Amino acid sequence: MMVMTLLKPDNTVEQQSKPRLEQDYVQLPKSYFSHIDPEAMDNARLVSVNRALMKQLNCDLNDDDLLDLLSGHLQRVDANPLAQKYVGHQFGVYNPDLGDGRGMLLGQWRDSHAQAWDFHLKGAGRTPYSRRGDGRAVLRSTIREYLASEALFGLGVPTTRGLAIATSDEAVRREVMEPRATLIRVSHTHIRFGHFQFAASKGAAHMETLLNFVVQKHYPEHEQDSLEQKAWAVLYQACIKTAKLLAKWQTVGFNHGVMNTDNMSIIGETFDFGPFAFFDDFKIDFICNHSDYEGRYAYNQQAQIALWNCKVLASCFEGLLTEEQAQQAMDDFVQTYNRAYLEDMNQKLGLASVQTGDKELIGDLLVLMDQFQVDYSLFFRRLAKWQTDNESELFELIHPDKLPTGFQQWFEKFQARVEQESVEMSSWRERILKANPSIVLRNYIAQQIIEKAEKGDYKMLNEWLVALQNPFDDHPSLADFQQPPRPYQKGMQLSCSS
Ligand code: AMP
Ligand code: MG
Repeated sequence: MMVMTLLKPDNTVEQQSKPRLEQDYVQLPKSYFSHIDPEAMDNARLVSVNRALMKQLNCDLNDDDLLDLLSGHLQRVDANPLAQKYVGHQFGVYNPDLGDGRGMLLGQWRDSHAQAWDFHLKGAGRTPYSRRGDGRAVLRSTIREYLASEALFGLGVPTTRGLAIATSDEAVRREVMEPRATLIRVSHTHIRFGHFQFAASKGAAHMETLLNFVVQKHYPEHEQDSLEQKAWAVLYQACIKTAKLLAKWQTVGFNHGVMNTDNMSIIGETFDFGPFAFFDDFKIDFICNHSDYEGRYAYNQQAQIALWNCKVLASCFEGLLTEEQAQQAMDDFVQTYNRAYLEDMNQKLGLASVQTGDKELIGDLLVLMDQFQVDYSLFFRRLAKWQTDNESELFELIHPDKLPTGFQQWFEKFQARVEQESVEMSSWRERILKANPSIVLRNYIAQQIIEKAEKGDYKMLNEWLVALQNPFDDHPSLADFQQPPRPYQKGMQLSCSS
């Protein structure tokens, strides 16, 4: 809280306090950002507030304060907004002209454990990095990001979060006219791989300040280290965290869609939600981004691309790290990813440890699921019905009348593997239900929520927000959404437009 003094007409002084966001980013040289005032959003009204996140942050801003931030007025809350400069590889091509084009870092909120959380206002208007864009966001894209990040959070996947959304009567041109909206995104960092690419392009002094900043903020245990050691710590942690993140995305069936280096968080969180998709039917080479003509970011490419992005990050530290060190970090990525992927997939199958042959068991299952177009999340959730009276609810996901031979053989092998666990079947079932969600933010569901919200009805949005925070519960009120989607509801591809 900042204490302000207010002069009264009789010259006595009254103490007034105004909530305040700190701004640590101004420690960096001016080339890293531009001070900028958000563009006001008139007649703004709240669409949704993430009360669980507010509580987690011990955030005592009230709804009027939040609306003040969301509408870019900044009269009730003291903030020092700025747009960040960064660069990046977009679809493999270097672009030096990037930066916050429609977002602003408002500052940091400090929770009761003295942890700083960036508040970033998305859709806040044009900045020096907007290029030809309008700097705005639409209700559709803000809702998609808000719910998807909460869905990943609920599934235990590292991610930025959404604190609140507001909309207004202003219309924004995309493929069609759409309602304008803003979103406050919250994260421990807004430093991307692309920030290090920017530092590398500016020279050694820039790299030194950025490394010191990131280490002080995220790895204070390395503050006394040499610059070389700091570079190693940042690269190593980015590789390990990104590898673990990718294993989780693959496991929960999340397709990011735009894994450009400017959309990669230095602390390995899911960052920037565009045309993402959670699987309906499993498709090994699924491309969720309509504009990704070559499938660069297809499901089965995601881990490779993350590694490629880590190589780009490593290349920023030339002169600070040896080639051997860079290679070591890449090897650590691969090793970490492979181990985490098997552990995470085994958890989905109710298997407590990784054993010889598990890799093949998982691989064989995915090939079959791809071949028979099996609904990804329902298959794993309904695995809990295997060898019960309701087993047919699992098998009907695979084939309407007869379990194909390949699957019969797979279940035989699986049976032998589960037996090795020496666990009661009831406990095994518990494991399945704890590892596999009953509800999934499928694109067709997000679309229904958006269409209602565009008409001013936010009930479904808020119901899903809370449900996605606890995805392993049964959620009988959402039973309709726990059935396989109809053919026309499946596999929606989306464009980058947001
Ligand atoms: P994205 O594909 O969302 O990661 O965005 C890539 C770049 O384009 C970033 O630098 C964004 O800030 C910028 N950008 C995206 N949409 C807009 C917009 N409507 N107005 C201005 N800049 C934008
Ligand atoms: Mg981006």
